[in-house]
Amino acid sequence: MTEADTVVVGGGIVGASIAFGLARSGESVILLDEGDIAFRASRGNFALVWVQSKGLAMPAYAAWTQRSAKEWNDLAAILRSETGIDIAHSQPGGFTLCLSQKEVDARLTKLQQFHSQPNVAHFPYEILDHDEVKRRLPHIGDKVVGAVFSPLDGHANPLLLMRALHSYLAMKGSEYRPTHAVEIIERTPEGFRVKGGWGEIRTAKLVLAAGLGNARLAPMVGLEAPVKPSRGQLIVTEKTVPFLHNPMVTIRQTNEGGVLIGDSKEDAGFENVTGTGVLSVMADRAIQMFPRLRHLNVVRTWSALRVMSPDGFPIYDQTSCDPPAFVTSCHSGVTLAGVHAMTLGPALAQNARLPETLAAFTPKRFHVPAN
Ligand SMILES: Cc1cc2nc3c(=O)[nH]c(=O)nc-3n(C[C@H](O)[C@H](O)[C@H](O)COP(=O)(O)OP(=O)(O)OC[C@H]3O[C@@H](n4cnc5c(N)ncnc54)[C@H](O)[C@@H]3O)c2cc1C
Repeated sequence: MTEADTVVVGGGIVGASIAFGLARSGESVILLDEGDIAFRASRGNFALVWVQSKGLAMPAYAAWTQRSAKEWNDLAAILRSETGIDIAHSQPGGFTLCLSQKEVDARLTKLQQFHSQPNVAHFPYEILDHDEVKRRLPHIGDKVVGAVFSPLDGHANPLLLMRALHSYLAMKGSEYRPTHAVEIIERTPEGFRVKGGWGEIRTAKLVLAAGLGNARLAPMVGLEAPVKPSRGQLIVTEKTVPFLHNPMVTIRQTNEGGVLIGDSKEDAGFENVTGTGVLSVMADRAIQMFPRLRHLNVVRTWSALRVMSPDGFPIYDQTSCDPPAFVTSCHSGVTLAGVHAMTLGPALAQNARLPETLAAFTPKRFHVPAN
């Protein structure tokens, strides 16, 4: 006897989004999550739904990201109508502001390289000079030389997203079980036995979406997820009058009025601490971009750990045995929540297989023979 059609291990944005798609397709799902001491990128991120920098060197990632940005609209609408929770999703287009001509040139080169890849899904963008940026964003400083704008970019409130996903699961009769760290997974004739200090659960299908925890869990079912932490530090200011409708790659005003300034990329192992060195560089660049930020108090700083694969692209894989186990790891889980909820979850429910389009994301791509 199994207790659930599918057990999803990891109750962050990735696991909860996939569980949403499974539950919406009629499956009973149990979502097992560790406690408050866990590393949880989903509770500490910058919350962009971001298209304009995704997919250089992997066209499949560009297509997957662009599809997700579109599917986000349906996800946000369903969550609002079914749970009553507005997750503050908007897609007004996003800017990457540049503080020197060198930065503009570097962005241009990357965009040209991106769009010259064979079979890549192109996305709309504009290169703007200072005057045009000023016309669209009147509060920028004189040091902004130019910007890249893409109308596909947006943002959301990640904590409300998690709450809405968990509420939706409860409404569908599925369960979110916190403080249920998984220690051992065993294969059984019917599927899997998942064990921890809290007891054990039997399930037919298994989805591993445990963020950095996937590195340890995936080999238990014959899969792999060679992910490592990449630290990001963030600053949030006191609330202020709305002045920034669009998200920038490193600055965004939340629906509540605070301004988020992010986010660094540091190789610091599992040390999720903050340091004034990195924070002051981030604050200084933000003030050059929007001088009015100099008058705001910082109310909090924090760091969180990204879930990073060796090439930075997501990992999706499944076992060949039946019923299958799946593994999913990615470092842009907010952006990909649209496809995880609206495409991947339903595919796992209906076909018990990954969509064909995800073949490129197998971790077998890391098996490069030594010279
Ligand atoms: C600073 C920063 C900024 C970011 N900005 C953005 C952004 O702007 N846009 C974007 O798209 N993405 C962004 N991200 C990335 C995004 O936050 C992550 O991709 C996403 O949160 C990953 O979700 P996850 O559920 O895979 O991992 P996590 O949130 O880390 O969740 C993993 C979960 O698995 C659980 N777990 C682990 N081991 C076990 C176990 N053995 N048993 C049971 N449960 C287990 C943990 O409790 C945890 O809740 C950012 C990340 C950081 C750190």
